[in-house]
Amino acid sequence: MEFNILSLIYLLASITFIVGLKMLSHPTSARKGNAVAAAGMTLAIFGTIFLYNEEGETLGNYGWIFAGLAVGSVVGTLAARRVKMTAMPEMVSLFNGMGGACAALISIVEFDHLMQLLDGPGVLILMLADEPGALLGLVIIILLGLIIGSVSFAGSMVAWGKLNGSLRDFSFRGQQAFNIGLLFLIVGLAVYLAVALPANALLLFYVIFALSILYGLFFVFPIGGADMPVVISLLNSFTGVAAACGGFLYDNKVMLTGGILVGAAGTLLTILMCKAMNRSLTNVLIGAFGGNTATAAAGQSQGAYKEISLSDAAVVMSYANKVMIVPGYGLAVAQAQHACHELEKLLTSKGVEVGYAIHPVAGRMPGHMNVLLAEADVSYEKLLEMEQANEEFPTTDVVLILGANDVVNPAAKADPGSPIYGMPILDVELAKHVIVNKRSMKPGYAGIENDLFFRPKTSMLFGDAKKVLQDLITEVKNS
Ligand code: NDP
Repeated sequence: MEFNILSLIYLLASITFIVGLKMLSHPTSARKGNAVAAAGMTLAIFGTIFLYNEEGETLGNYGWIFAGLAVGSVVGTLAARRVKMTAMPEMVSLFNGMGGACAALISIVEFDHLMQLLDGPGVLILMLADEPGALLGLVIIILLGLIIGSVSFAGSMVAWGKLNGSLRDFSFRGQQAFNIGLLFLIVGLAVYLAVALPANALLLFYVIFALSILYGLFFVFPIGGADMPVVISLLNSFTGVAAACGGFLYDNKVMLTGGILVGAAGTLLTILMCKAMNRSLTNVLIGAFGGNTATAAAGQSQGAYKEISLSDAAVVMSYANKVMIVPGYGLAVAQAQHACHELEKLLTSKGVEVGYAIHPVAGRMPGHMNVLLAEADVSYEKLLEMEQANEEFPTTDVVLILGANDVVNPAAKADPGSPIYGMPILDVELAKHVIVNKRSMKPGYAGIENDLFFRPKTSMLFGDAKKVLQDLITEVKNS
């Protein structure tokens, strides 16, 4: 009876995940979607704790379980409440890494159990005697969870460090060969362990664990420049797949559904990000893109740039027919999304057509600009995807770039030696005027200079985006 209720709860939770995911795809329903999926997960967790009962055996260990739940809930709530909007991408990476770590820990615990059962005349032996392939299947799933989960954990930790600026890209001569060799070694050892189950299986298992952690570190360390978005979504899908392995292991439908959904969503996002960067996944993973920031940062100065005053910028925009705003990471840093929306409304009230050109990798996490602008209630209809925006630029009078840099860097099209070469960019130069707001001439994430700032159509409007936007609003009101 109890088991049936639990199955029903798992089914309900799986449905809430799917519905929640669907709702997350639109800014107006995203918040509710998150709550729906979280409610389903809470139901599944408490259902498992209180209703799990297999042949009279309940979960037990309630002290540990509730202590873990309490610590996790407190840390999670505090972290989510305190995190600044700008630190959100790092936190997403950190939480993703925790998911990978959990999957790896499940594998460690279950392999240990398996070894103990195989040592003694456990029930498992009797069970497995009927199905010779079952033991192999079990070990394979445990190993998959261990390897993928560990790679995801270690890789996400490096991504976290890179996003918050505490770690730099790192590579050494022959690193690609080293990485490939390491991967083959891990797979080779895992196959041997699964097939032969040698006497020193436990030791071998921990060697595979250590090598997987090492691989996760070396896999993400050299990837830099503008390739991080692809790696972040890939790590996301790894965590999903690793969690799904846990679902297989425990025959737990809700873990399986959740893991597969995350894995599939992460894979789709990876494909989208690859498309956005015009790169194949293989190219990202073993290509030389990124990791070249030392050379890249040493870009040469392109000569003189011209500045525009606040009042001139306000006049140019007030008398324009069409203004396109290009938001970038700097807009999030300045927390200027509300001021940006206010300027947009003000210009619209003056009869100017205003739109937002959204580059898929602008900011520091997939969808960063969409989330940022949704927070300020910017209408979703005003957001143009890169292809649409590029079609609109030739008929645009003024492009206002707010804290964006790499996503408008013409080197991506013109300079084969550039670490962002090949990445599609927003063709802002097709418009009549380009106004760039940033605080200095410093480079963006990829660490390279931007020739756009020195081009004839471009004028620089220096200052913190929030302050500049607030001043622009005053000037536009007076113009
Ligand atoms: P960039 O990092 O290229 O540039 C941001 C610019 O904002 C900087 O040049 C900085 O210049 C300026 N800035 C910073 N703070 C402020 C402020 N308070 N006010 C005004 N300007 C400010 O950002 P983009 O969005 O153009 O490009 C994103 C980059 O991040 C790409 O290279 C992408 O590959 C990478 N990335 C993206 C991820 C994603 O998932 N979206 C994940 C990881 C990396 P200054 O200091 O002079 O003000």
